[in-house]
Amino acid sequence: MSKRDYYEVLGVSRSDDEKVIKKAYRRVAMKYHPDRNPDDPKADEKFKEASEAYEVLSDSQKRAAYDQYGHAGLEGQMGGGFGGGNFSDIFGDVFGDIFGGGGGRGRGGAQRGSDLRYTLDISLEDAVRGTTVEIRVPTLAACSTCDGSGARKGSSPTTCGTCGGAGQVRMQQGFFQVQQTCPTCRGRGSTISDPCTSCRGQGRVEKTKKLSVKVPPGVDTGDRIRLGGEGEAGTEGGPAGDLFVQMSVKQHPIFERDGKHLYCEVPITFADAALGGELEVPTLDGRVKLKIPAETQTGKLFRLRGKGVQPVRGGGVGDLLCRAVIETPVNLNKRQKEILEELQRSMGEGGHAHSPRQKSWFDGVKHFFDELKP
Ligand SMILES: [Zn+2]
Ligand SMILES: [Zn+2]
Repeated sequence: MSKRDYYEVLGVSRSDDEKVIKKAYRRVAMKYHPDRNPDDPKADEKFKEASEAYEVLSDSQKRAAYDQYGHAGLEGQMGGGFGGGNFSDIFGDVFGDIFGGGGGRGRGGAQRGSDLRYTLDISLEDAVRGTTVEIRVPTLAACSTCDGSGARKGSSPTTCGTCGGAGQVRMQQGFFQVQQTCPTCRGRGSTISDPCTSCRGQGRVEKTKKLSVKVPPGVDTGDRIRLGGEGEAGTEGGPAGDLFVQMSVKQHPIFERDGKHLYCEVPITFADAALGGELEVPTLDGRVKLKIPAETQTGKLFRLRGKGVQPVRGGGVGDLLCRAVIETPVNLNKRQKEILEELQRSMGEGGHAHSPRQKSWFDGVKHFFDELKP
């Protein structure tokens, strides 16, 4: 690959001095800086080319060798590829006064705050109907004393000398250019010599935020509500993270929820179950009458259409399913016991005609024992 003339790359003449060359390099490097041209390999190429040209022309020895012998004069001088260890120094030298001074911030310094998760316990009624809840969230907010900079009032963070505020340093390894987090400032792009006392230089302080969360009707356990920008504050002016409020619907004493359907158990008296009757059952909108047909058995499901939940993501309203549980009468007095005994005697003669389940159960047991016989 034939290399372009270094002076041409930077757009300077051979008689230009160091200052002019530095200025020219800064202009070209800023134009083609990878941070400004993400995913543009051509810009990346131009950036590298300019950096290489500057490395040579800013070094009087290398410049002299280049002036005399051209690219060939530098062979063996460029070490293991361009840049190497002193690349970061070039960067700091050239960019230091761009990013530093007037409160400018290195790109590496501004980082988005973390997302936060908050679990919100709500009642089934609130989950179904929707509600507004006040929550208190412990979070990291930007320090008000230093406006999040971390530097004591009246002072400001100084640009990191190693990365020149970029937060990242680029190194050439063989054919590959790798980008690494600056080891000096750990990516912040700046260092603080006089830290703010309120936040101990962190720029963020722990704070309990009071927020109002609007819970839409139909939410269920596991649903998340995103509150944009209500997470942890970013560092050095970076954007805040988001707060995710995760729903956890508390157990209800009567209703059990399965998606859009609700279940409940309805105790039915022995007599009502046998003779049929009418019951009042609870729904989330109040009581409704439920007709119990004669000969109702435990486990029978009564479906009350539309008495379930309207899902938050749309779709039809669910149902309420009431499961019949026949109750054995307790605390019987003498007279009641006599009536039951009389009933029992009257049913006894007919075998299991009055107990459909017992009949099939005994048939099953008999079959089971017949199979066991050798
Ligand atoms: Zn640094
Ligand atoms: Zn502070």
